[in-house]
Amino acid sequence: MTLSLDIKTLEQIVGPENMLTDPVDLVVYSSDATHTKSKPNIIIFPTTTQQVSELMKYASANRIPVVPRGAGSSLSGGPVAIKGGIIVDFTRMNKILNVDTDNFEVLVEPGVVYKTLEKKLKPLGLFFPPDPSSQDWCTIGGMIAENAGGMRAVKYGVTRDWVMGLEVVLANGDIAWFGSGTYKFASGYEMHRLIVGSEGTLALITKALLKVAPLPEARLAAIAYFKTLEEAGKCVYETIRRGLQPSGAEIMDRLTMDAVSKFTGITFPECGAVVVNELDGDSDSIKKRLKILEEIYKQNNAISYKIAKDEEEAEKIFESRHAAYSALSTYKPTTELEDVTVPISKVPEMFKRIEEISRKYGIMIAAFGHMGDGNLHPNILYDENIPEEKEKAELVKDEIFRAALDLKGTITGEHGVGCSKIKFFGIEHSPCSVNAQKAIKKALDPYNILNPGKIFGEM
Ligand SMILES: Cc1cc2nc3c(=O)[nH]c(=O)nc-3n(C[C@H](O)[C@H](O)[C@H](O)COP(=O)(O)OP(=O)(O)OC[C@H]3O[C@@H](n4cnc5c(N)ncnc54)[C@H](O)[C@@H]3O)c2cc1C
Repeated sequence: MTLSLDIKTLEQIVGPENMLTDPVDLVVYSSDATHTKSKPNIIIFPTTTQQVSELMKYASANRIPVVPRGAGSSLSGGPVAIKGGIIVDFTRMNKILNVDTDNFEVLVEPGVVYKTLEKKLKPLGLFFPPDPSSQDWCTIGGMIAENAGGMRAVKYGVTRDWVMGLEVVLANGDIAWFGSGTYKFASGYEMHRLIVGSEGTLALITKALLKVAPLPEARLAAIAYFKTLEEAGKCVYETIRRGLQPSGAEIMDRLTMDAVSKFTGITFPECGAVVVNELDGDSDSIKKRLKILEEIYKQNNAISYKIAKDEEEAEKIFESRHAAYSALSTYKPTTELEDVTVPISKVPEMFKRIEEISRKYGIMIAAFGHMGDGNLHPNILYDENIPEEKEKAELVKDEIFRAALDLKGTITGEHGVGCSKIKFFGIEHSPCSVNAQKAIKKALDPYNILNPGKIFGEM
């Protein structure tokens, strides 16, 4: 996109060492973990909130699109500059500013990587519960902007549940603090919760005050094998219904298991579906709940199951699930990972519909997901260079989204709308709902410069 940028002004704001304009760098920054591609005009690495504020004043005065970015691991095209403009890469604002062990709070800059925070918290007996599979590289800013979830969301909720306050820079360059340092907060709108999940379209996050939790005394992992996805789905539903409060209830189908086997060497017995569970808490309560879990496995016709005997074995069990997405990318040139979410009682039905859609179009769909909260990841596997397959994959996607909505679900549980699900956003939400959301966007970003073209498409 042709944009006239005043490089001298930008240099004065962040310094020439914090900018990239080389065409090769622009290409590197032209995508995320999806197939969306579009080149920005420049990449800026701010190191202070003040710099972000100056940058936004400049962008606002000149109506230049600004796209915030963390590690670029988004699965919805979120950090791609589809209208060109400035990418603000937050990875150099990566300090853990304060760990308040008395109040179970941490203050961090947005570029802190999840794993770095985890390493800092573990020796203090604390953890930050939302745990995306991309945790080795994704940033806290990206997690907040996507309202990321993870395997433990079934017990601990998603990122929004752990954000207490945010320092943000608004589109006009104003610096605002939203939220509070207290667990309870009834003083005005919960603006910090609105910013969570806003995909960089309402404000740039420059600091985050996060709640953290004491590490549980113990964690136990179990893996159970089933003939069908439906049986596996029923089993997970039972664990929730009977109040076991698992801190992990993951599922993988046979295609995913085969891919994981090839990718990691981990082997699975002959079966159609696998359920991976975690129970955490004090040892006595785990023992009690484990008995019920075993009972549930048996009642739901598990072919066999295994309880991890130590932490190492537990990690191995979860490693298989963590590897699912990367492993599946080896099947076909194109992998499209969706994240439809349905009410938990509807999970078996959703699996059934995914199988039917796969058969109808002759397109491979592997399925795994955070089953305990109804969040499924159908992976559409095809070759985008074959026009017929590409066309079919579009129809498959369309039918999967419509099936989820038909079951009173949503098109995305944790990856966001970005630019890959815009069409379906308008189907999920009524015109009144879309208009109310657009009104908020217009109030905070009147010139539509913050991550334009995302969530709503054209404003
Ligand atoms: C292999 C793999 C596994 C994954 N597993 C999971 C999973 O289990 N759960 C899950 O929820 N997601 C998962 N994801 C998706 C992705 O990793 C998460 O959405 C993650 O939170 C994105 O973080 P990021 O730092 O890469 O952000 P980016 O991808 O860089 O950006 C994501 C969004 O946040 C915005 N943004 C970034 N920083 C800021 C900021 N400071 N202020 C305002 N907006 C900002 C961007 O504009 C963009 O819209 C996975 C992705 C991959 C590739």
